This record gives sequence, C-alpha cells and structure tokens, in this order.
Amino acid sequence: MPHSTHLSQLVGTLLLGLTGCQGGTASPPETPAAALPFDGDRAWKLLVEQVELGPRPSGSQANALLRDWIVEDLKASGLTPVREPFTAEEAPGGAIAMENIYSDLEAPAGPKGAPAPMIVLGAHFDTKKMPFRFVGANDGASEVAVLLELARTIAKGPARDVSYRFLFLDGEEAVREYWEDPDNRYGSRYHVRQLTRTKGALKRTKAFILLDLVGDADLQLERDSNSNRELLQIFVDTSKDIGMPNLFARFPMPIKDDHQSFAEFGIPSVDLIDLRYGKIANEYWHTEEDTVDKCSQASLEKVGNLILAALPRVESRYGKH
Ligand SMILES: [Zn+2]
Repeated sequence: MPHSTHLSQLVGTLLLGLTGCQGGTASPPETPAAALPFDGDRAWKLLVEQVELGPRPSGSQANALLRDWIVEDLKASGLTPVREPFTAEEAPGGAIAMENIYSDLEAPAGPKGAPAPMIVLGAHFDTKKMPFRFVGANDGASEVAVLLELARTIAKGPARDVSYRFLFLDGEEAVREYWEDPDNRYGSRYHVRQLTRTKGALKRTKAFILLDLVGDADLQLERDSNSNRELLQIFVDTSKDIGMPNLFARFPMPIKDDHQSFAEFGIPSVDLIDLRYGKIANEYWHTEEDTVDKCSQASLEKVGNLILAALPRVESRYGKH
C-alpha cells in the first residue's frame, strides 16, 4: 500500500500539528489544543475487548453482551445512554430483534427555547454473520472503539454551542452474503424514521458523521463520492492542516453505508471509511483475516484526532439554528 511507510512519521507530525508548532503551517486557530485529548490506549483496549467477545452478528447473544458493554462505557463517561429496540421485519430468512444505542450531549437551547442544532456521530457495532469465525476487528470493533473514546472526550471537554448524539447502530451488515437494498442498514434506516416521527428532530439534525473500518494498520480513508462534498472536504482539509496530507485517497469511490440513510432525508452526511483493507486491495474485508493484528492503535488515534480537529469547522458551517 502506498502510504504505509509514512505511518510513524505521520503520527509524529500529527502531534506537532495539534500543538500548533509545525513549521510555518500553524494548526487552525479554532482548534483548541485542550479539546484534543483523544486517548489511543483506551481506544485500542476497547477494540481488543470487542474482538474477545467473538462474532457479534445482529440477534446473537454476543451482540446483546456488546450492547450492555457499550451502555456501561457510555455511563462511565458520564453520559446517559438510550436503548432503541426494533425488529428488522424485512430481514431475509425471518425477523431479527435489533437495538440501536444512542446518547445525547445537549447544548443550551437557543432563542425562544429552540433546541440546539445537533451533529450526529455514528458507527455500527454488529459484525457480519459468516459461515466462518468472523470477529470484525476493523469492520465493527474499530469504529465503536473510536466513537466511544470520542464520546468520552467530547463529554469531558469544554461546553459547546452544538448538541452531539453518539449513535451506535445495529444491523448495518446485510443478512445475505451480498449487499442489496433493503437488506442492510437496518439500524440507521430505523433511527432516521424515528427522527421523522419526533417533532423537530430531523430539522435540528444538521450533519451526520459516520465511522466505519477505521482501524487498518495501513490506514487510508476514501474520498467517498456518496458523501456530502462540502462536509467531506472539511475532513480532507483538516487532515492536511494537522499533518496527515496522505490520509485520504486521491481518487473518489462511491461507498454504500449507513450515511445514506441520513442523506436520503437531506442531512449532510459523510462516511469516514477505509475500504482498502489489506496488502494489495481489500482482501481482509469480510474474511477470517479481519483480526487485531491487522489493525493499529496509531490508526485509531489518527481518526479520533482528525474528527476532534474537524468538529469546530463542522460546527461553524452546519451548527446554526
Ligand atoms: Zn462489513
């Protein structure tokens, strides 16, 4: 892969960039260093703990244990998790009981008591059901690990003018071997339907940021052409400003993922995803090879710090009443 040799170098320059003393390119003034205490050690531990649960497909006992584990971690971060159970009636082969989990960090209401604009950070926690032992270190565990650590970091950080929802989605994976609508995105489609049924909820949801497959030791995020262009560009620009100029791929690729469920309702949405998981192309994806040894703590830190650095820009662009 083209960028693996830059790994340690990138981490070094990232840290320099975050403290604002990298050569002549100072970090953006709206990025306070105090807002960037992403704990890579903790994120890595969270990834490993999920993999130790074994395969975690929707409807399984391991999936239920994982949900309890997510709830406990959010509570330990001082948040109040909400369980959102539903039934995936349309699943091929029969209905499956599923459950999303989310937790809101509310900013003060605006003029006339209008609720603050909300940015949603999301990740799926289910692993694809396979006829072999599929533990999803990258596809499942990595994005949950980063999102849980982001939730802790943002909740403990300075007060913000924008509300955040940390959304953990069940049922992203197709039940069938292949991806064909509507056999996929069960959790995100259900969650957005609930937003449409809750007065004002859709309107206040200003942006959706999805994390998926963010743990590959040889990390390269896609320039997803199904993402909102302007929102994606904020992350591309930020990656350069904090010393990771090669983090995003050079050429666009269309990605089908949970962000589409939000985009279908007009919410600007972006997918931060690495779909080149392996030595040559994407050969570890959805295979027995998606294991801890193919992932790295440095990659989790890169994505976590990228998001923390980009959020002030996302807030100023999308976080208006
Ligand atoms: Zn998958």
